[in-house]
Amino acid sequence: MTSIVVLGSTNMDLVAFVPRAPGRGETVTGREFRTIPGGKGANQAVAAARAGAEVAMIGAVGTDDFGVRLRAALDGAGVDTDLLRTAEGASGTAHIVVDDEGGNAIVVVPGANGTVTSLTHGDEALIGTADTLLLQLEIPLPVVTAGAVTARRLGVRTVLTPAPARPLPAELLAATDLLVPNEHEATALTGIADPYEAAAALLRDVPEVVITLGAAGCLHAARGGEPFTVPAPRVRTVDTTAAGDTFAGALAVALGEGRPVREALAWASTAAALSVQREGASSSMPYRSEIDAAHG
Ligand code: ADP
Repeated sequence: MTSIVVLGSTNMDLVAFVPRAPGRGETVTGREFRTIPGGKGANQAVAAARAGAEVAMIGAVGTDDFGVRLRAALDGAGVDTDLLRTAEGASGTAHIVVDDEGGNAIVVVPGANGTVTSLTHGDEALIGTADTLLLQLEIPLPVVTAGAVTARRLGVRTVLTPAPARPLPAELLAATDLLVPNEHEATALTGIADPYEAAAALLRDVPEVVITLGAAGCLHAARGGEPFTVPAPRVRTVDTTAAGDTFAGALAVALGEGRPVREALAWASTAAALSVQREGASSSMPYRSEIDAAHG
């Protein structure tokens, strides 16, 4: 079993299902409301655990009711939460509007995630036991950087999802083995719309990039190799929330198991395609047996 540590966010997703998202100053009537445990860090942790890895999560939940549920959701998914802190105050929340076409718009309020500002010795020791450290940008940037630098020092592979998009410090990029932006994030990081050109620009900073392209699949580029795309399975889209997190979690599992990169990408694409056919974030993520069955 490959071992993964996630250093990242936990959020309670407050999800409204609507025919279409409201414009400014407009009110629309939704069909349904749900609270679903999420956050990019926790989502990737659950995705990786369901995909068959041993997973531990470093981050923080709040002292509110959401915090209790967020921790329980990770525990229930088999994620080790021993080093998940409980910080005085509100848990992180994500206010999500999902429209009838499966598109989404999201506001994130960091809450407890903002209190994760440094690594303890225990955190560093845990990172050192992993094959892979999964990182995103929903906790303060200095601690994301510290995590990547620690992992690099200890010989642990670092996989960074640069979301939500923001300029990345050179020190973080220098300690990143694999960068996994979606198309928008790749453009935000480089100022380049074309994914091939954006990937080429990103390879100046990191050795390997996977740009996810939604229903169009993904683009892989590595220094010294030819870029190639992997198509996504054609499926009926219900809700694309956390497709990227499912993809990143499953990809980290497959790569951690030493599978060839094309095979790993195809397997992660299968996992993500399963997730977009169901509503919710972590609730939509497939188990390893389902991924294997759909992968054929
Ligand atoms: P994010 O969720 O971060 O915005 P993407 O939309 O690029 O990222 O989706 C991540 C991955 O999920 C894609 O590379 C693809 O494999 C899969 N995916 C997303 N949308 C679809 C879809 N409509 N059909 C099939 N696969 C999808």
